[in-house]
Amino acid sequence: MRTLPLGTEPTVVKRPTLDVERTMVGLDRSEIMGRLRRIGIPEKQIKMRTTQVWHWVYYRGVKSFDEMLNVSKDMREKLEDNFTIGRPEIIEALVSKDGTRKWLMKFPDGNEVETVFIPDETRDRGTLCVSSQVGCTLTCKFCHTGTQRLVRNLTPAEIVMQFLVARDHLGEWPTPSEGRVLSSVVMMGMGEPLYNFDNVKKALKIIMDEQGISLSRRRITLSTSGVVPEMKRCGEELGVNLAVSLHAVNNAVRDEIMPINKKYPLEELLAACRDYPGAKASRRITFEYVMLKDINDSEEDARNLVRLLREYDIHGKVNLIPFNPWPGSDYQRSDEEQIKKFSTYVFDQGISAPIRAPRGEDILAACGQLKSESEKMRKSDRLKQQKQSEISS
Ligand code: SAH
Ligand code: SF4
Repeated sequence: MRTLPLGTEPTVVKRPTLDVERTMVGLDRSEIMGRLRRIGIPEKQIKMRTTQVWHWVYYRGVKSFDEMLNVSKDMREKLEDNFTIGRPEIIEALVSKDGTRKWLMKFPDGNEVETVFIPDETRDRGTLCVSSQVGCTLTCKFCHTGTQRLVRNLTPAEIVMQFLVARDHLGEWPTPSEGRVLSSVVMMGMGEPLYNFDNVKKALKIIMDEQGISLSRRRITLSTSGVVPEMKRCGEELGVNLAVSLHAVNNAVRDEIMPINKKYPLEELLAACRDYPGAKASRRITFEYVMLKDINDSEEDARNLVRLLREYDIHGKVNLIPFNPWPGSDYQRSDEEQIKKFSTYVFDQGISAPIRAPRGEDILAACGQLKSESEKMRKSDRLKQQKQSEISS
């Protein structure tokens, strides 16, 4: 049961998460400077100390101030007494038979999120799929995350932490100058990143920063279900690639499977895609299209897809995602033949439309299969509390 109305921007619940007062992760430089001032670091050292912290945290990937070797012992102790750069608790770390890895992280307030690393065929490169919220306010019918009520937005620290944890597990510190294994990031985990844009922006700016992780914006993709008013900001303020979860080519079907379409219908969505900053040049939009048997996979749908992209003069690419089932899902994956036919038609019309091979299905890590137990935990906590109060009354 959902309490938040469709498309509501969730308010950030002010509960302790990643020890917000103490963590140095997820802060921009001016905030780090502020923290150092607060503990009495002399003004003339502030800039240099900030550069050092940044370097050790984001370039070297250390997990404690103790490891900052070019910082004096006194200073290290002072930092250790007041701040932390420690990681969240890892509840589960799974590896699929195809090499996909999934981590379930728990934050101090009990909320959990999932992060997935998908190596490519050769396994010497790969993509990290990062979550932006615990749950989601949107209720796309085919998506497992959509069945989990939104619990809260993730903080910048919690978003950046997902990257740091993956790097820890892949043994990829310090930041390699070339040949990275974690070579790209997609904001395609749990949640709608454009409903948490400020925090996502802050986190991605840190991930892109050249003095640290230094991942190029060309290697970052943000996926949206179509939050039209925020799309432009994403292009202007971050300049990352945009992926749009299209999934249907007429309003009737899209309304049915993606209720956000009632707020921002196809015409508005496609106009925003056409106008996405940089879309005409290097930043081509990727349209995600989940293949649902007898819902959106007909030849007519393929024709309409091509027609729409032409009509709006959009030079994008289409990613066909065979539907990934999850416990209790209502839909079926389209037949392989049908997916191939759809793909061939779109390709023949001059639009790239590869079929995305499902990855990490055995560990429920494929697109749309992520869901954490945060809601359940809260329920069981509530029950526990109820029982306790019954006993004491
Ligand atoms: N909220 C954002 C990003 C997360 S979802 C968005 O909706 O774009 C990442 C992608 O997986 C989206 O394209 C989403 O529509 C797709 N997806 C969701 N459930 C799926 C499922 N069961 N099978 C295949 N793809 C799915
Ligand atoms: Fe939310 Fe994206 Fe899932 Fe829709 S597809 S419910 S927007 S996570």
